[in-house]
Amino acid sequence: MTPEKAKTTEVSHSRAKPFPWRCPECGKKEVRPATVAHTSRIKHDGRLYTVEIPGLRVPCCGACGELVFDNDADEQIAQVLREQLGLLSGEQIRMNRVELGLSQRILAEHLGVAVETISRWENGVLTQTRAMDRYLRVYFGVPAARTALVGESGTSRLGVHVET
Ligand SMILES: [Zn+2]
Repeated sequence: MTPEKAKTTEVSHSRAKPFPWRCPECGKKEVRPATVAHTSRIKHDGRLYTVEIPGLRVPCCGACGELVFDNDADEQIAQVLREQLGLLSGEQIRMNRVELGLSQRILAEHLGVAVETISRWENGVLTQTRAMDRYLRVYFGVPAARTALVGESGTSRLGVHVET
């Protein structure tokens, strides 16, 4: 619920402190960029997955070996998990949205999710569930599905559906 979440993409990268960082484990100022083989256990969508990355770019302490995960490292892991699960990448979601000429806010309205959710999917910081992934594919790939969700005025029709 912080206002800064309304901004997108570059924020997390541009505010990174210059290296070397102080190590949160041993306290020495020896944390520098490194590339390591890394295996993570990630809980997603109610299940636990093993994500193996042979060349993870992550800041590492030269004194004690502690890995200091930053946004970039988290995004690499999330990206590999998405590939492993066969889910749309953040870039694919963004490209599909832009092709339809939609803002994040409009897409969020059509799908019935928060605009922050769209932003996080596209930035790679949040991985969509499989159900949401299928919903996105139907929305992007099937014009009739979009028509069903959007009235001609651009507002959602779902609210006026009446069961008879
Ligand atoms: Zn250390």
